[in-house]
Amino acid sequence: MENRSLRLAIQKSGRLSEKSLELLKAAGVRIDNYSRQLLVKAQNFDLEILFIRDDDIPEYVQDGVADIGIVGENIILEAEKNLDLVEKLGFGKCRLSLAVPKQFKYESLKDLEGKNIATTYPVILNKYLSENNVKASIHKISGSVEITPNINLADAIFDIVSTGSTLISNGLKEVQQALKSEAVLVANKNITSEKKALLEKILFRVRSVNLAKNNKYILLNAPNDSLDKISDLLPGIKSPTIMPLAMEGWSSIHTVIKEDDFWENIENLKNAGAQGILVVPIEKMIV
Ligand code: ATP
Ligand code: MG
Repeated sequence: MENRSLRLAIQKSGRLSEKSLELLKAAGVRIDNYSRQLLVKAQNFDLEILFIRDDDIPEYVQDGVADIGIVGENIILEAEKNLDLVEKLGFGKCRLSLAVPKQFKYESLKDLEGKNIATTYPVILNKYLSENNVKASIHKISGSVEITPNINLADAIFDIVSTGSTLISNGLKEVQQALKSEAVLVANKNITSEKKALLEKILFRVRSVNLAKNNKYILLNAPNDSLDKISDLLPGIKSPTIMPLAMEGWSSIHTVIKEDDFWENIENLKNAGAQGILVVPIEKMIV
């Protein structure tokens, strides 16, 4: 019999595991009593979670072993599978960069012409080099890329960087960023309409959670004669809510602002006469 639950593949253990589970939890999907067995059923949603190595996720989703998956864009681009990219998830951010030994006099990508470059991402690197008309010899290795220049196995490396501390501790410097990556939700191209409906339901929740994360609820007090000025600084979802305070001539303003605009807005608001500013996290946001 056709399995009707939506099956989601996530990384069994690694950098994306906790965040993937947190996202499900925030989206109201309960998975009690799991101890990372291979396959676990959600308590309150028609969803099964398949815990596997991240490298296997693109293929499993393409082949329909799982219907959807959460995995780094870097893995998706390297795997070259036929999948739908449904949503960027905002965590697991990193970049794929070229790095060389710190004494290497690097000025441009042309300096890598004819060199040996070690990587676990040969597909992405090959594409990047050919787009930039550089010919180099790519050595595919399966791990510990950062040690290869030290043992004379390569002149340069192409690898994931987030803080850069691994590079520094291996005497390397990042010279060229090729790609930015974050965790994404991918889906099989041929899921049934029942499963598609389940995916839409999950996606709606995931978007509400992520939207909430990127916004803050702000409350402040202001003298009535500065309300117009302050309202102009606060676009809100529609428009700010304004309520009179018990104190004559003063009002309280409530609205939602973007996390990114947060500090800049706070300064402008203070200059416009706002006082007692409170900024509160939002748990879910549906617009
Ligand atoms: P698996 O055992 O599942 O194959 P892995 O060792 O290949 O795990 P992790 O190191 O757990 O993978 O990284 C998973 C993903 O996290 C990466 O593919 C990448 O998208 C993302 N990521 C974010 N920051 C970093 C980082 N600093 N180093 C490595 N990966 C990172
Ligand atoms: Mg892996």
